[in-house]
Amino acid sequence: MFEKSTWIRLPRNVLVGHNVLDETVAAVEELHLTGRPLIVTGEIPREVAGNAVREQFENWGHDPAETLVDEASFEAVQRVIDAAEDADADYLIGVGGGKPIDITKMAADELGVGFVSVPTAASHDGIVSGRASVPEEDTRHSVAANPPVAVVADTGIIADAPWRLTTAGCADIISNYTAVKDWELARRLQDVTYSEYGGALSRMTAELLVEHASSIKQGLEESAWMVVKALVSSGVAMSIAGSSRPASGAEHLFSHQLDRLVPGQALHGHQVGVGAIMVEYLHSGENGEWRDIRDALGAIGAPTTAAELGIDETTVIEALTTAHEIRDRYTILGNGMNEPAAREAAAVTGVI
Ligand SMILES: [Zn+2]
Repeated sequence: MFEKSTWIRLPRNVLVGHNVLDETVAAVEELHLTGRPLIVTGEIPREVAGNAVREQFENWGHDPAETLVDEASFEAVQRVIDAAEDADADYLIGVGGGKPIDITKMAADELGVGFVSVPTAASHDGIVSGRASVPEEDTRHSVAANPPVAVVADTGIIADAPWRLTTAGCADIISNYTAVKDWELARRLQDVTYSEYGGALSRMTAELLVEHASSIKQGLEESAWMVVKALVSSGVAMSIAGSSRPASGAEHLFSHQLDRLVPGQALHGHQVGVGAIMVEYLHSGENGEWRDIRDALGAIGAPTTAAELGIDETTVIEALTTAHEIRDRYTILGNGMNEPAAREAAAVTGVI
C-alpha cells in the first residue's frame, strides 16, 4: 500500500523588481488578507521602506500598526507577539534585512497568522524560506516556521543596500553546492530523506550564480535582481524538501560555531562561503572543485580567507573541529575532524 505523503508550503505571491514596493498592498489584497497589519521593522529599514509601506496601508484605509525591533532574540519575538496582540493585528509584515524578517516570521508562526516578507537587503535565503534562526545564549536556534505568504523584493532598494550584504547573499547560495553534497551523503550513509527536486533545484541555483559571478557587480540593479531570484529559488528548494537540507550542510555548522565563538564578527553568508571552500575540499579532495567555489566567491568580492572574515586561525580550527557537535545533522564531518586534519584542510584551501 502506498503511504507516502508530502505537504509543500510555498510563498504565494513573490514580487521581484524595480519599484515593486509600490505593489505591496496589491500583493496583500490579492491574497485576501484582511484586517489590520502590524509592520515590524528596524530604524534604518523603516526609513528605506517601512514608512512607504505604512503610508500605502494608511491610504488603503487599513490603519497599520508598527513596532521596531533592534536585536534578534527570543525576547524580541515575544515583544512582537505582544505588540500584535495589543494592536489586534490580523497579519504581520516584516520590513528589513535578516533580523526583522526572522523575528516576524517566528512571531507570525506562533500567532498562527500570515506573514509578508519585505526584504531591504539580499543577505541570506531566510527572506523567502520557512526557516528562522535566532541566537540564544552561546548557540543559534534554527527553527522551522511557515514561509511568507508574500515576498516583496524591490531591487531598487536592495541594490542600494551595503554591497557586503549582497555578496553575503551570493555566498549563502554558492554554499548550496556543499549542502546538497552533504545531503546526498546523509542519504547514502544514514538513509536520510532526500528530495530529488529539492536537491536539483538547489544545485542548479548555485550553478547559475557561479556562472554569472563575473557579472554580479556593485551598483547594478541587475545584480540585485539575480541574487534575489536565486534566493527565491533556494527558498523554494527548502519548501519542496520540507527542510533546510538543500541549503545547509557542514559549511553552515561551521558558521554556527563561528557565531558561538566570535558572535557578530562576520556575516552569515560570508562565513558559510568560506566554510563551503573547505567542505568542498573534504568532499572531493585537493584536485576537487573547491577552487571553483573560491574563485566564484572571489569574483563577487566575498571573503575567501579567515583574514578576510576578520577571524583568527585558532578560531577557524576550533570551529572546524567542533562543528559536528552542533546539531543532529549528518554531514561530511561525520564524527568530527581532529586538529591536524582541520589545519590541513584550512591550509590547503588557503583559508588560513
Ligand atoms: Zn544560510
